[in-house]
Amino acid sequence: MAAAPHIIQVAVPTPLHRVFDYLSPVSLAPGVRVRVSFGRREVVGVVVDEVERSDFPRDRLKPVSQSLDTDPILPPLLLDLLRWAADYYHHPLGEVIQTALPVRLRQGRPGVISGVVAWALTHDGRTVDPEMLKRAPAQKRLLQALASAPEGLDANQMKQVSSRWAAALKVLRAKEWVSSHMRDSQPVFDGNIQKSPELNPGQKSAVAAITTGLGQFRPYLLHGVTGSGKTEVYLNVIEQLLAQGKQTLVLVPEISLTPQLVGRFERRFRIPIAVLHSALNDQERLNAWLAAREGKAPIVLGTRSAVFTPLKRPGLIVIDEEHDASYKQQDGFRYSARDVAVMRASREKIPIVLGSATPSLESLRNAREGAYTLLELPDRTGGAGMPEVRLLDMRRLKPSEGLSLPLREAIAARLAKGEQSILFLNRRGFAPVWMCFDCGWVAPCRRCDAQLTLHQKRQKLMCHHCGAEQETARQCPSCHGENLHPLGEGTERVEGALQKFFPTARIERIDRDSTARRGVLEEKLRRVHEGEADILVGTQMLSKGHDFPNVTLVGILNADQGLYGTDFRSAERLFQMIMQVSGRAGRADKPGEVLIQTWHPEHPLFNALQRHDFHGFAGFALAERRETGYPPYTHLALLRAESPAPGAALKFLHEARALAVSQAGKDVQITAPVPAPMERRAGRYRAQLLVQSDKRAPLHVFLGQWVAAIADASLAKKVRWSLDVDPADMY
Ligand code: ADP
Ligand code: ZN
Ligand code: ZN
Repeated sequence: MAAAPHIIQVAVPTPLHRVFDYLSPVSLAPGVRVRVSFGRREVVGVVVDEVERSDFPRDRLKPVSQSLDTDPILPPLLLDLLRWAADYYHHPLGEVIQTALPVRLRQGRPGVISGVVAWALTHDGRTVDPEMLKRAPAQKRLLQALASAPEGLDANQMKQVSSRWAAALKVLRAKEWVSSHMRDSQPVFDGNIQKSPELNPGQKSAVAAITTGLGQFRPYLLHGVTGSGKTEVYLNVIEQLLAQGKQTLVLVPEISLTPQLVGRFERRFRIPIAVLHSALNDQERLNAWLAAREGKAPIVLGTRSAVFTPLKRPGLIVIDEEHDASYKQQDGFRYSARDVAVMRASREKIPIVLGSATPSLESLRNAREGAYTLLELPDRTGGAGMPEVRLLDMRRLKPSEGLSLPLREAIAARLAKGEQSILFLNRRGFAPVWMCFDCGWVAPCRRCDAQLTLHQKRQKLMCHHCGAEQETARQCPSCHGENLHPLGEGTERVEGALQKFFPTARIERIDRDSTARRGVLEEKLRRVHEGEADILVGTQMLSKGHDFPNVTLVGILNADQGLYGTDFRSAERLFQMIMQVSGRAGRADKPGEVLIQTWHPEHPLFNALQRHDFHGFAGFALAERRETGYPPYTHLALLRAESPAPGAALKFLHEARALAVSQAGKDVQITAPVPAPMERRAGRYRAQLLVQSDKRAPLHVFLGQWVAAIADASLAKKVRWSLDVDPADMY
């Protein structure tokens, strides 16, 4: 008689909150992918356990159709982390595992590196002069192509460059001008580095603190203004880990905005960096993921979802700009990569460094209470001072197209000296309102509770919430008058105003509209860096990742928007944003100046900004959070619902609340359901319900029971709902 088959629990990609039992003739290790039939489909799932008994009769269990991996594709610690995340965020494990797997693995493709991916070791081509290769045209062309492809080229792309690419690549690799990542090449750190500058005392003690804790879970909060040398600290710590053969995972908010960072890592260590970002094709992404898993990539750099990249010999996690909101996924599996990373570090028993010029209040509180070690870099390197911050009292100044006279004078002074200015305005388009000056009608979006933004160059009214576009009305639909005008300013209008005020100035606008085409952003930034632009006007895209040493003036046009926002984090975000943009400007011999246009110059947030006093701001912001009962002093979860039927979402939330009240103990407060701040978006009516607790544990237990009860009660007809644990945005 054949041995009894094994009962295997499989997480399959489905919104159901459970795993499924299958039979297998052989034992299958957790982390192995399997193909199973699920309903009428075949799906790829991941083994999570083997059990003695199933809740289902054995003859109803189906066999595993195929096992796809000999060794677990997900290492045990990572699988545990995913289980923890599914539990913590009350999200189905099958979907959580999907998030962690590259597309090719989700499709059931083999987990092997294929193709050749090569990188030039110097992207700027400065240390290698292609002219030296005059007599080796294939090498020269390949090197030039690689030098202008920061993410490297695969075999097909190199074939396009030269039919003799393989031989050329071999020579270039031997010369150490190019590194590549092949099926069986194992790039090893060769000790050949570009030298680190002599560290200043703050950097030295930060590096010393972090490196004494290697091999243990130790969380650090590295606080230092932009340009204070945080990246240099990461690099020095990573250098020591490389020498020990350990891998580092570096998370950044957005790679397209930080190409300089990748270049800096590669130039320093002359090793390939596995970069995980959205522009990779599926095979490249799989290659990078596998290179990390197999220990071939000593440094793995990526955005949010890279937190789930397996590492064979993990040594360190770095979260750059840890306060950045993009670390929180805003739909589906709503995890915070920063928080998951801290949990991961604790499970892998490695240090984690959270770096920021403006740490989140959550992390700051952890540091103040001793859960994290606070490391401070108080000064900008190279003697550069902090810019002087001046408030322009808009109650007395009349702006012309958004620009006050003192700001225009300051720009003129920079133009006269050949220095650059940045104007920051968190609103794209020409004007946020298209209005009838006779009767007060404003153009609304038909599908959202929002006004349409005028985009003058495209001659369209556009909704920034649902993407709807329509022709610009010439006649008022309400009073039939023709006295329609734009009201307020967006980046497009300010750009036009600047052209009028400064006809000879070279102006670059940087926002999502002006940089939609691939390569345009890079080209614009290049012009700024090479001094081919005098004034930059843009949205918060400008606040991230770039240093502009020749910029000596930063103007903040509509700062007040954030002061009284609907979200309890509005002020925190505003402070972070202004600190970030101002930190990008100026250097030792050319100190910067920041001008903030405001109608509330007395606001304590601005006074803290004037003193560059992050801790002062954080002090009063934390006190306010404590008083009002918001994070980090309480824990929140938001149940969101939406439906095309008016009232359905609210009704659902009332029913969900009724289910909850019997289960919630005294430690959990459930507020009344309310319409979302913008109730209708893209034709759906949205509502939300806030759950709050001083203590994490009872909240967690309650949420687990509640989500199960909601799912069971099948209230959810016609309504899409989701639970957001630790919401980053309150709408
Ligand atoms: P951050 O990451 O805090 O913005 P960086 O590490 O990028 O700061 O440092 C800002 C600039 O100063 C970089 O050009 C860097 O090479 C340089 N730098 C950093 N530390 C030092 C140092 N100790 N001595 C000289 N230059 C330094
Ligand atoms: Zn009208
Ligand atoms: Zn809309």
